[in-house]
Amino acid sequence: MHATIVLLPGDGIGPEIVAQGKRVLEVIAKRFGHTFDMPEHAIGGNAIDSCGDPLPEETLNACKKSNAVLLGAVGGPKWDDPKAKTRPEAGLLRIRKELGLFANLRPTKTWDELLDASPLKREIVAGTDILFVRELTGGIYFGESGRKPHPSGEEAWNVMIYSTGEIERVVRVAADAARKRRGKLTMVDKANVLEASRLWRQVSERVVKTEYPDLEYNVVLVDSMAMHLISKPREFDVVVTENLFGDILTDEASMLPGSLGLLPSASIGSSGPGLFEPIHGSAPDIAGKNIANPLATILAAAMMLRYSMSMNAEADAIEDAVSRVLKAGHRTKDIAGTGPSISTTEMGDLVVGML
Ligand code: NAD
Repeated sequence: MHATIVLLPGDGIGPEIVAQGKRVLEVIAKRFGHTFDMPEHAIGGNAIDSCGDPLPEETLNACKKSNAVLLGAVGGPKWDDPKAKTRPEAGLLRIRKELGLFANLRPTKTWDELLDASPLKREIVAGTDILFVRELTGGIYFGESGRKPHPSGEEAWNVMIYSTGEIERVVRVAADAARKRRGKLTMVDKANVLEASRLWRQVSERVVKTEYPDLEYNVVLVDSMAMHLISKPREFDVVVTENLFGDILTDEASMLPGSLGLLPSASIGSSGPGLFEPIHGSAPDIAGKNIANPLATILAAAMMLRYSMSMNAEADAIEDAVSRVLKAGHRTKDIAGTGPSISTTEMGDLVVGML
């Protein structure tokens, strides 16, 4: 297959980790007989510096024409001035909107070799392998909001609003993913209180019962889910939920494996390119030191091959290589504890070597 993969290194450690992702993709292309064009474009703070816009038109057009986008991270103290006309994060929000990326996929998997890095007990967290599917472009973050005077000062409101279509499409993404995994789908809502959640429950039950009767399906209230995640995380396979609940639950879940440097994420729409990135930020405190962990970005590249290009064998090969590198005891500083550590480029060398 020939594919165009736009690389958006971004700011801070972004260029260092995306460089390792690119090397891994080059090896995959060679091994599996593909050709990947991988042009680089600016986004975030460096794009503000070079052309005053965190998402230049040229970047956006290149992304729209591509098969998929691999992003490092954006932001940093240099662009944190609250009085600034625009911020690096504005580029991220806009690209998600422009590409119609309504589903955010975040796998949360613990690695046996790194269980001691988890804040939870080994016997609780071992074997956790959850895929969160969070609705990304609707709900309370995008509903009407406002303020008006109130006898005590002011009152403010945000509206949580969802349509049948918005729920159907993200539930289908989650159900399709569950079919490729262990066949279990959990929908999280607050249907005992919220009308929007009652629509979620009604629509998702219909979609699953009529289109995915083979799946094991259950619903959990979001407050219970917050507890289950740290008491019995192994019980979940694919979890689908709306934007606000997903934002909070995925951050809670990101603590389970014990390192931000190992967690990838994907944002996808119904057609067109998806956006793949590590869940961590630009880590300005370690930028330029060649010590950042590139594995989340390398695993994001694997997700890209799996979800945007249906290259399952290629994605498996990358995930297997990462697993073998970790099993062999190699660690970047963030996951080394008090043991010895290797650099960003050495970690890239090892994964490439395994492939
Ligand atoms: P962060 O994720 O960048 O860093 C948190 C801590 O984790 C830091 O100590 C950092 O050194 C460490 N860390 C993160 N990734 C690492 C890696 N791959 N290897 C080793 N250590 C790693 O979060 P932050 O410090 O809150 O934010 C820094 C900047 O990143 C801010 O400008 C923020 O707005 C931005 N940010 C961007 C994104 C994104 O681009 N999607 C996401 C989150 C934060």
